[in-house]
Amino acid sequence: MQYIDVAVALPVNHLYTYRVPEDVEEQIQPGQRVLVAFGKKYLAGYVVRLAETPELEHVKDILDILDAEPIVTPNILRLTEWIAEYYCCSWGIAIKAALPTGIDILHSIRVHLRMPPESDRAMQDFFDDLPLRVSGGMQKKILAILRQSPTISLADLQKKVGKKRLHASLHALERQGLIELEDVVALGKMQAKTLQHAVLLASEILPSDLDNLENHAPNQMAVLNILRERFPDGLPIVDLQEMVKFDPRSALKALTQKGYVQTYPKEIQRRPGGYFAYQKTPPLLLTPEQRQVFEQIHAAINSNQFAPMLLHGVTGSGKTEIYMQAIAYLLTLKRRAIVLVPEISLTPLLVSRFLSRFENNVAVLHSGLSTGERYDEWLRIKRGEVDVVIGARSAIFAPMERLGLIVVDEEHEMSYKQDSEPRYHGRDTAVMRARLENIPILLGSATPSLESYYNSQTNKYQLLTIKERVDARPLPTVEIIDRRRDRSQHLFSNTLEQAIRDVLARGEQVLLFLNLRGFANFYLCQECGFVYDCPRCNVTLTYHASTHRLQCHYCDFSRLPPVACEQCGSPNVQYRGIGTERIEQDAQLLFPEAVVTRMDRDTVSGKNAHYTILRQFDQGEIDILIGTQMVTKGHDFPNVTLVGVIAAEIGLNLPDFRSSERTFQILTQVAGRTGRGHLGGHVIIQTYNPLHYAILAAQQHDYLTFYAREIVFRQQLNYPPFSRMINIVLQGEDELFTRDLAQRLCEDLRRADSRKLTVLGPAPAALTRLRNKYRYQILLKSQQSLYMRTFAKEQVELFRKTVALKDVQILVDVDPVSLL
Ligand code: ADP
Ligand code: ZN
Ligand code: ZN
Repeated sequence: MQYIDVAVALPVNHLYTYRVPEDVEEQIQPGQRVLVAFGKKYLAGYVVRLAETPELEHVKDILDILDAEPIVTPNILRLTEWIAEYYCCSWGIAIKAALPTGIDILHSIRVHLRMPPESDRAMQDFFDDLPLRVSGGMQKKILAILRQSPTISLADLQKKVGKKRLHASLHALERQGLIELEDVVALGKMQAKTLQHAVLLASEILPSDLDNLENHAPNQMAVLNILRERFPDGLPIVDLQEMVKFDPRSALKALTQKGYVQTYPKEIQRRPGGYFAYQKTPPLLLTPEQRQVFEQIHAAINSNQFAPMLLHGVTGSGKTEIYMQAIAYLLTLKRRAIVLVPEISLTPLLVSRFLSRFENNVAVLHSGLSTGERYDEWLRIKRGEVDVVIGARSAIFAPMERLGLIVVDEEHEMSYKQDSEPRYHGRDTAVMRARLENIPILLGSATPSLESYYNSQTNKYQLLTIKERVDARPLPTVEIIDRRRDRSQHLFSNTLEQAIRDVLARGEQVLLFLNLRGFANFYLCQECGFVYDCPRCNVTLTYHASTHRLQCHYCDFSRLPPVACEQCGSPNVQYRGIGTERIEQDAQLLFPEAVVTRMDRDTVSGKNAHYTILRQFDQGEIDILIGTQMVTKGHDFPNVTLVGVIAAEIGLNLPDFRSSERTFQILTQVAGRTGRGHLGGHVIIQTYNPLHYAILAAQQHDYLTFYAREIVFRQQLNYPPFSRMINIVLQGEDELFTRDLAQRLCEDLRRADSRKLTVLGPAPAALTRLRNKYRYQILLKSQQSLYMRTFAKEQVELFRKTVALKDVQILVDVDPVSLL
C-alpha cells in the first residue's frame, strides 16, 4: 500500500495522510496535486512526500491525481517547507503562493480523441481491444463518451463521469497516446496582443475648423493638439487617456468622422510596463571598480557553491550593468538566473534594460499580467524555454532548473516582505533558495539594510563595494534648508523656488518628492480643534482637491468635507498640512510655463500609467515631476539636475524602530536620481528636523557613518540584527474582547517562558483601529530565532485550541518589517 502526505492550502499546521489506490499507484509523485475528500468537501491538496504506513486505522483514499507531472519541483517543495517552518504558516498556503494563480483553473482543459479510426468497423475493433490495453472502468467510460463526441471540455466530461479518478484516467490515456489534452488557458494567451492606436490623418486643418473645435469641442481640441504636436506617428489610446485625463473615445470618434484622425489596432509586444520597442544593446566596458566586483562574482559563480554576496554600490555606480554581465557569463555556462526587483511596475526602464540585453530569453513576472499571461510565462520557465527570470517577490519561486545565480536588486526595500500569509521576505527566501540550490546570490543596494550590512561585517556575506559613480561623476551636492527659521507658509522655500527657476531656464528637469499623497493630510476645526478621522480606522482623513473629498488612506472610506464643524458648529473648518496634490498646484502657480506632472497612487491607477509618465519624463516632455516614493526608485534620467525634498522629517515620526533607517534610505535614493549625466546635480532637502543623523548622513551620502551610529542603537536596545522579532497581532471588532484576549495570550506567553525571550505588550498597535477592527500587538524578541519560532507556533496553536476566539484573528509575523 502506498501512502502520501498531503498539504492543503488552509491555515493549518500539519499534513494529512491519504492512501493511494493501487490502480493509480504508479502515477503518484511528490509535487503533484491530488483531489481528496476533506471534511464534507472536495479539495485539491499537494503531495509533499510519500509516507510510511500510518498508525491510524482509517485512512481515506485519494479521489484523483490532478497532474500528469509534478507541478512543484523538488527544490520549490523544500523551499516552501522552509517558509512554512520559518514563517510559522501552513505549508499548503506556502505552496499555493509559489504557483501561478492560473494553474487552479482546471476546467479549461479540452479532451480530444486521438486518431479516430476511419471506419465504424475499425473503431469497434479498437474499442473491443481496450480491456487488454487499459485498465479501469473510468478510462473505458471516457473513451466511450469520446467515441460519441471526439472533443469535449473537461467540465462536460466531469458532468458525465464524475470527479473520481478523472484526471488520473485522462493522464493514463494520454500517456498511451489515445487522447490529447489541450490546455485552453495556456493557448488563449499565445494570440498576439494588439492595442488600439490613434493617428493623425490630416496634417492641414482649416483655421476655421480649429476655431470651431476650440470653442465648441475642447476635448477634441485637446486630443488633436496632442496628436499634432507630440505624436505625429500616433500613439496607443490608453496612453492618450493618461495624458488628457478623460475618456478620449467620443472625441476620437468625432474626429474620425471629420476625417482628421484614424484609429486602428496595432500589434504590440506585451512586456512590463506595457509595450515598448527595444533594441539589443551590447555590454558596456566596465570601469575598474565594476571590473573588480565583476571578477569576484565571476569567481563565486565558478566556485559552484552557496556564496552570499552583498554589493554596496552608490547610486549610479552601474550595478545593473554588473548584474547583466554576470548573467551573460552564467549563460555561457548553460546556467540560469533569477533577478528580483522590489516592484516591477515601478521599474519598467530597468526591465527594459534586461530585455534589451537578453531579448526573448527573459521571462517577466509582474503584477500587470493577466492570470493567463502569468501562467504562460510560468510555463515558459517550467519548460526551460528562458534562461533569465525577472520579477517581484514571488519570482523567487520560478520553477527553473540549472539555476546558477540569484540577484536581489534594492535588497533593502520593505516591499520584499509579503503582508499576507505566507508572510515571507523575498530577499531572505532568495538566500534560502540559493542555499538549497548551492549557488551564489548577489544582494545589491546603495543603502543596504542594517541586517544585510551587519551580515557582511560578521562575514556571513561577502562584501563587494563600489564607491564611485560611473565615469567618476560626482554625487550630487545636498543642501539642507532649515524650515524652522523660515517663517513663510510656502511649501517652497526661497532657495528651492530659485533653484527650480534656474533649472527650468536651462531647459533641465526637476524631481520633487513628498511621501504624502492628496492635497492636505488633515482637516480640522479652527475653533475647537476637532480633527476629522476615518470612522473605521484611527487615522486622519486626507483632503483630496481633485475629488473634493476627505479620504482614508487605509480603507476605502471617503466623505464630503463638512461645511460646519460637526463638534461645535463653527463654519471655520479647513484643511491643513500638505500633500503631493498641493505641491502640484503650487508648482503650477509658481512656474506657469512649466509642464508639471504628478506621479502617485492617485494618478497611476491605469495599468501602464507609471510607464507612460516615466517615458514622458525620460523624453523631456515633463519639466517638473512630483511624486511619492514611487519617484525614488532606481530611475536613471541624466537631464534631472535638481531634486527637491519638500519635507524630509515625515517618515521620522513613525513609531517604528526602523524609521531612521527608512528615512536615510529614501533620502539617499531620491538624491541619487540626480547628477546622472554630464550636467551634474543638486539636491535640496527641506526639513524641520535638520540635525537628525539620518538626514545629515544622507546629505553626505555617507552610508558607513549612518550604519555606525544606527548599529550601536540597535545593539543597545537589542533590536534586529542583534535579535529576532515576532509580531503577534490580534484583531477583532469588539475592542474590549480583543484586548482581553491579547492580555490572556500575553500572560500565557510570559508564563511559558521568561528567560530566553522577551515578551512585550500587549499594546494597541500604532494603527489601533483599521477597517473597523481593533488591533493589539504582542512583540516577541529573542536571540534564539529557532527557539522563539517554535515557541510562538506552539503557544499560539494551543491558545487557538483552548480559547474561544469568536471573530478575533491572530496574525503571526516573523521578522516584521513594519510595526505599524
Ligand atoms: P545603479 O543601478 O548602480 O544606480 P545604473 O546601473 O543605473 O546604476 O547605472 C547608471 C548609468 O551608468 C546607466 O545609464 C548605465 O547605463 C551607465 N553605465 C553603467 N556602467 C557603465 C559603464 N561601464 N560605462 C558607461 N556607462 C555605464
Ligand atoms: Zn469645532
Ligand atoms: Zn479608514
